[in-house]
Amino acid sequence: MNENTPAIGIDLGTTFSAIAKFDPSGVVMTLMNAEGDRTTPSVALFESGQAIVGKEALKAISTEANSIALCAKRDMGSKVFHQAIENRQYPPEVIEAFILDKLHKDAEAQIGHFSKVVITVPAYFDEVRRKATQDAGYMAGFEVLDIINEPTAAALAFGFQHGILGQNSVQENILVYDLGGGTFDVTIMRMCGSEFITLATDGDVQLGGYDWDNRLVDYISDQFVSEFYADPREDVCARGKLWRECEDAKRTLSSRMKATITCDYQGLSKRFEVSREEFEQMTQDLLDRTRFTTTQTLHAAGLEWSEISRVLLVGGSSRMPMVRNMLREVTGKEPDSSASADECVAMGAAIHAGHIISQSQGNPATFKIRNVNSHSLGVIGMDPGTRLPRVGVLIPRNTTLPVRVGRKYRTQKVNQKSLLVQIVEGESPSPDNCTFIGSCKIPNLPPNLPAGTPVYVMFEYLPDGRLRVGVEIPDANEKVTQEFTRENNLSKTLLDGWRQYISNEPPTDYQ
Ligand code: AMP
Repeated sequence: MNENTPAIGIDLGTTFSAIAKFDPSGVVMTLMNAEGDRTTPSVALFESGQAIVGKEALKAISTEANSIALCAKRDMGSKVFHQAIENRQYPPEVIEAFILDKLHKDAEAQIGHFSKVVITVPAYFDEVRRKATQDAGYMAGFEVLDIINEPTAAALAFGFQHGILGQNSVQENILVYDLGGGTFDVTIMRMCGSEFITLATDGDVQLGGYDWDNRLVDYISDQFVSEFYADPREDVCARGKLWRECEDAKRTLSSRMKATITCDYQGLSKRFEVSREEFEQMTQDLLDRTRFTTTQTLHAAGLEWSEISRVLLVGGSSRMPMVRNMLREVTGKEPDSSASADECVAMGAAIHAGHIISQSQGNPATFKIRNVNSHSLGVIGMDPGTRLPRVGVLIPRNTTLPVRVGRKYRTQKVNQKSLLVQIVEGESPSPDNCTFIGSCKIPNLPPNLPAGTPVYVMFEYLPDGRLRVGVEIPDANEKVTQEFTRENNLSKTLLDGWRQYISNEPPTDYQ
């Protein structure tokens, strides 16, 4: 690897982010931010259109909650962040770009200029969210070498730390249980010599430690209401302050049996005590959701628990004892938390970045990653019976990539001029319940095609998430291949405008 090209990996988390560097000498480490911490709260406080990111922003939650963006990762894929900030609607990827910019600048202050990075995403992120993450990286001034799945990164870091990365004698199936601040992922991987093969993945982009915090917020608020007839949840700043107290108490309950939470509102104040048992009871259903998904994923991988050799705990919320206990009970194995739950994802991303850079310099690959698609991909067609639009799945979820599949369709009208292939992602037969991810138009079909002419649509889905759509009309001797156009939230002009703006250059067109 070229000494001048640092290999950098970023774990852009819902509640905390981390950045790591992989050295040519084989050392991987997370870098400290300007405050001296190895993780940075993924929180942005906006002041006159500029963002303060991290610990300082988090502190302002009890006074300036309306100017703060929390958990923007949960909104990735949506047009705008769920709450206006300073009367402005920000796309979530722009908020993420401000967070990445802070990581970028703090890291550059230590290791000098760099731009090439690998960013991680939950395995369960769909294409739209992956693209939005890539765009956030671009707006923060990065060249995004790759987007990799968080569990894959965690497994890479684990393999590296245990000296089994690239060793042909190793063959084992591992389960990565990743419960972060805002998302949950469970992935089953097969480490097979130098290959990291994802067998199945599932998860929930709306489930994480934040939901556990909110249960405590509700529990305390309800008690406060019954005592004082005042609800701290009605004021964003009071709620923000209470949330910080609850998040803190939740961490305490991971190591102690009791914690106290102070709630102040409208000049009234009270300290409440919560036991671990009470906390576990009020969040049991959240844990059960992860248990259900974990078992489903094992089935999707076609494995039995006896065939899983390790259960890796990743994500800060996996420190809750209820998680470990549940997994021990379900899997019959003692979960492994030897990799640092907060840092291993960024480290794995840095190892992957180092590998990409090394290969681009002509060195042989030392390991290989094989992924699956986490959501089914299909096209919208017409149901001949009901004449209603319906999704025809071409690539079912958990198919190993790359994959090439084809399906036969027929033209609908005589002399049809063009063909529109609309691509959706999701598990529902109804297009309305799936995510529209783009379309591929085949213009200029040959003239005078009879209705019902067979049209073969081919999908080629590559490991980097690129989808190639081929259309063949044998009767007309016609073959068209097209890289399909993904629907972007932000145009190239807007992305460039934001890139300039976030790196403090005068904005051109960022509104
Ligand atoms: P991550 O996104 O992986 O950094 O995870 C952040 C989440 O982990 C937040 O919801 C934290 O509150 C939670 N977390 C971190 N440490 C602990 C702990 N000791 N006990 C319970 N939750 C924790």
